[in-house]
Amino acid sequence: MQISERFRLLGAAAERELAPVFAKIDGIAAENTERVLDAFREERVSEAMFASSTGYGYGDAGRDAIDRIAAKVFGGEAGFMRPAIICGTHALTIGLFGLLRPGDVLLSVTGAPYDTLAEVIGTAGNPGDGSLADFGVKYAEVPLKDGDADLPAIKNAVENCGDSLKVVFIQRSKGYLNRKTLSTERIGEIARLVRSWAKKDVYVVVDNCYGEFTETREPASVGADLIIGSLIKNPGGGMADVGGYLIGTPRAVELAGYRLCSPGIGIEAGASLGQNRNMLRGLFMAPHVVAQSLKTAHFAAYVFDSLGYKVEPSAFETRYDIIQTVSLGSPEGLVGFCRGIQSASPVDSYVSPEPWAMPGYADPVVMAAGAFVGGSSIELSADGPIRPPYTAFLQGGLTFESGKLGILAAAECCEAARQEGKQ
Ligand SMILES: *Cc1c(COP(=O)(O)O)cnc(C)c1O
Repeated sequence: MQISERFRLLGAAAERELAPVFAKIDGIAAENTERVLDAFREERVSEAMFASSTGYGYGDAGRDAIDRIAAKVFGGEAGFMRPAIICGTHALTIGLFGLLRPGDVLLSVTGAPYDTLAEVIGTAGNPGDGSLADFGVKYAEVPLKDGDADLPAIKNAVENCGDSLKVVFIQRSKGYLNRKTLSTERIGEIARLVRSWAKKDVYVVVDNCYGEFTETREPASVGADLIIGSLIKNPGGGMADVGGYLIGTPRAVELAGYRLCSPGIGIEAGASLGQNRNMLRGLFMAPHVVAQSLKTAHFAAYVFDSLGYKVEPSAFETRYDIIQTVSLGSPEGLVGFCRGIQSASPVDSYVSPEPWAMPGYADPVVMAAGAFVGGSSIELSADGPIRPPYTAFLQGGLTFESGKLGILAAAECCEAARQEGKQ
């Protein structure tokens, strides 16, 4: 790889300085691994559970064990983790449609939810496409204040919704927004307060994407009724080929299961199609792989901060998700960053990312993704819209060794672009 002595030295300095941070991350991974192993032992995972099922999938012991293991690991009383779930948006759609009925109010208390949910809720897209709005579900939103949950405004909104309030929605990760990522503790606090303000029982639903295993507790253990995410992010450990999960309290999970399949059948059926082994192996790997991604993110923050770029979060800040942003300051810098990441990928390293007009986005977007699983973002990946301040969103890294090389390759490309810009 074309990495100069200068950047290799900078990388070594980053590792030295970050050693205490990395030790803390290793501690979290150790605790999470123990929780995963305890669940595997309690459920007596055996080779027989790797067997595949077809058709209805009745009596698939591996599938049922995975559901229970996932629930235990994530601190819920019930749950399911299935390859039939296409992506995170699909998992969130299952949860929301499972819980909400005509006349109910869905209240998002962390500002606008992730982009792809707008058409699910009905704040974007075409009337008649089958959004929640089409079915008479009302939607309200409390904006964030200074990037954090605005408790007095949430109290007001909860009281205004009155009896109609059914689901309170919290997004844990910053996603692609300039906001804070919420800790599990903070989510627990919001859930507790919302329940105390609401006139009757409400479901607290958490979009848990990118947050899994960054702490030693998940939001289902602090009062969330459903936590929802994708297996081609953190909890698939880079091993799951596809899938998602919904975990939480028994009634909420039962209702979500009825939406996954049908009322009556719920999670009793569902062929595993040979995915049980990958999902179990992924769950086993996930605490370690998330630690590798976190180290890669800290490393990137250190290196790019040293080079004078704006990074968020900063190198030594505690993280509750795996996303790192780097503002490159020019289109060439952003494209260079993505090209560097791509060039150090195990798959498609010879490809050079070009900005393109992605459907649904106002500005061209450039992406780096050299992954074993299509679109996987627990594998080292980066993307960003071509607009000021030319921010790259970076996440993933199956191994810190490869993540580090990706970051140093990106630094080389960005610096080359900066030098060229000066001439
Ligand atoms: C990725 C993500 C989603 C949607 O997941 P897809 O798998 O892309 O459909 C939802 N919310 C957040 C915060 C995410 O990061």
